[in-house]
Amino acid sequence: ATPPLPEYLSRLNPEQRAAVETLDGPLLVLAGAGTGKTRVLTTRFAHLLMTGRAQPHQVLAVTFTNKAAREMRERVGAILQRPVEGLWLGTFHALAARMLRRHAELVGLRPDFTILDTDDQTRLLKQVMDAAGVDLKRWPPAGLMGVIQRWKDRGLAPGKIPVAESSDYANNRAEALYASYQARLAALNACDFGDLLLHVTEILRNHPEVLERYHRLFRYILVDEYQDTNLVQYMWLRLLAQGHRNICCVGDDDQSIYSWRGAEIENILRFEKDFPGAVIVRLESNYRSTRPILAAASHLISRNQGRLGKTLRAGRRDADGEQVCIVSLWDSEEEARSVGERIEQAQRKGTSLSEIAILVRAGFQTRSFEERLITLGIPYRVFGGAKFYERQEIRDAIAYFRATVSASDDLAFERIVNVPKRGLGDTALTSLHVAAREQGVPLRIAAERMVEGGALRPKPRAALRELLEGMARWREAMEREGHVVVAARLLEESGYTEMWKNDRSAEAPGRLDNLKELLRAMADFPDMAAFLEHIALVMENDDKAEGEKVSLMTLHAAKGLEFDMVFLPGWEEGLFPSQRSLDEGGAKSLEEERRLAYVGITRARKCCVISHAANRRIYGNWTSSIPSRFLDELPEGEVTREGAERRPIPVPSSVFGGGPLLGTRRPRLIEAGAWEVESRPTPEIAVGSRVFHQKFGYGTVTASEEGRLDIEFEKAGTKRVMAGFVELVH
Ligand code: ATP
Ligand code: MG
Repeated sequence: ATPPLPEYLSRLNPEQRAAVETLDGPLLVLAGAGTGKTRVLTTRFAHLLMTGRAQPHQVLAVTFTNKAAREMRERVGAILQRPVEGLWLGTFHALAARMLRRHAELVGLRPDFTILDTDDQTRLLKQVMDAAGVDLKRWPPAGLMGVIQRWKDRGLAPGKIPVAESSDYANNRAEALYASYQARLAALNACDFGDLLLHVTEILRNHPEVLERYHRLFRYILVDEYQDTNLVQYMWLRLLAQGHRNICCVGDDDQSIYSWRGAEIENILRFEKDFPGAVIVRLESNYRSTRPILAAASHLISRNQGRLGKTLRAGRRDADGEQVCIVSLWDSEEEARSVGERIEQAQRKGTSLSEIAILVRAGFQTRSFEERLITLGIPYRVFGGAKFYERQEIRDAIAYFRATVSASDDLAFERIVNVPKRGLGDTALTSLHVAAREQGVPLRIAAERMVEGGALRPKPRAALRELLEGMARWREAMEREGHVVVAARLLEESGYTEMWKNDRSAEAPGRLDNLKELLRAMADFPDMAAFLEHIALVMENDDKAEGEKVSLMTLHAAKGLEFDMVFLPGWEEGLFPSQRSLDEGGAKSLEEERRLAYVGITRARKCCVISHAANRRIYGNWTSSIPSRFLDELPEGEVTREGAERRPIPVPSSVFGGGPLLGTRRPRLIEAGAWEVESRPTPEIAVGSRVFHQKFGYGTVTASEEGRLDIEFEKAGTKRVMAGFVELVH
């Protein structure tokens, strides 16, 4: 008689079981979201160990994030009913670093090499460029960093760049500079992230005896999220799988969302060619989501041209469920309020907070939700990044504001005195501290005296003088011109935004967006003092407590995860799809945005709420947004719409100094995001005038003071607003 089926296999459907039990030879599982690809991979891992096909250390398993690696380790342990140690399980980076430590000397490194972070990387490259006499103003190092990263993603070492991949950067010197940069790294016994796989792949290529050792070691290879591998990752896998060819990759072409980081969907298409005789398994039952959620996701993604195409049907026993809900809201605040209310409702009905996620397109979007959740006392966690007010650029900006309004705020002053770099080295800062202590005055006063007394070398002195004069000027202007306008100018004149504009790292644009969002948030407060007080309260709220929390993260970070209830806010043209993808104009980038939307919807098990706001604010101005085209691409019968689809109301042309905005794409203003905030001439508005305000509607002025008005609004009650933001009604 056949032995009874082990429990862990009985929890699979026939196709999944086939994928788990086909142990020999190349296998590709190509299937839509939630069909159990990751479950197959985990079960396969356990099955290899249970059947004695491999010892724990003989399986190489690649996941996309460390979190996923942890989960897989736990699940394998659960199936085996014992903790498993010594696994080669992790991300590409983690696995490559481990291998490189073992063979560092083969690429001229010692085993204790350091891995540089992005800052160090850029600094080093700058030195190299400096030494080569490159004009750094004309050719910012960050630009070359991008070129080098691309080459590394494609497995190209210096001296091996084909003509088609060459770069004309710095008058065709990119490749030579790349070579010098690599030489500097080697001299320092260091490498950067991109080097890890590049070096390891080189080693496997050039040292057959090493490659053979790994062929013997890794009997089986497992790869999750295969659609997002880049070329060098692919080459590494192919080398390792060459011998036994026991490689199993799982992926979904519809979820390829990292092409901007060099991922190549062609790797999927190439699998069959590189591994002839590969078995392809398709899984078609989705066990994650209810039928309406799946219908919405499938319908949306069917708009993409370049896809392999697959069937997806609901496999849950309780597949019927509520329809996907599309909510139209007035502005981003109302959007945050609406999400907050729904979360409270769900919580009352027994949904655990850890089963709720808010997934945003851009990092800055978390701000309004964070504030709402804090107000409601709902704990939350931001994945894949910091909470909004803890982000570096936000802390820097706030330090600038604090140092400007308060001469005695040493902590704030210290944080920004040399950011951006003003040539104030450690020695200068130490003498500043000593002087402050000796004289018993705050740092800023000591700095002023130092500048007067000519204590520093000319260049740093001039830079410090400029900062101090700037602070005096900004503080003085704050009263007169309003805190938002001055804050924007401060960030500009201090060189702070410039610093991030010159930074070509992948995070820099997001940081600039965060700074804009900060200014937007600021407009809610009558003045800087009130805003800073609010920030202090928000920051204090930071709870380290364990327990259930709502998850906030970007769509990119949500890959592979699932939640009962998913909120997808900000579905507006220019935000999602992003302005960048629209500017690029190609169908390709729009299709990647659509895949991102597909990833978002398919994270939801039971409830999916998509929303868009008709208005977003920029520096207290209102700008209208039109609903994302993706909303029109959802199947009518499977979605409910709440809140009459609100088209933005026409904005008085004077507000933007241009034509009507109705029905146009998102105004450039908000994306191009020029920091040049025009302080519009403030019209003379007398007490008693009837006015119209973009957000609060009609009202009557009850008091007027230095450009600020108290207005009794007909609907919104009494508010204090900037005079520039209301229209006189005759
Ligand atoms: P994604 O493409 O989003 O990464 P996936 O294909 O990796 O999704 P899994 O995360 O493995 O899908 O599975 C989705 C959900 O369905 C999980 O909760 C999983 O436990 C469950 N599941 C998978 N297979 C089955 C099955 N045969 N029976 C019941 N539930 C299943
Ligand atoms: Mg998965």
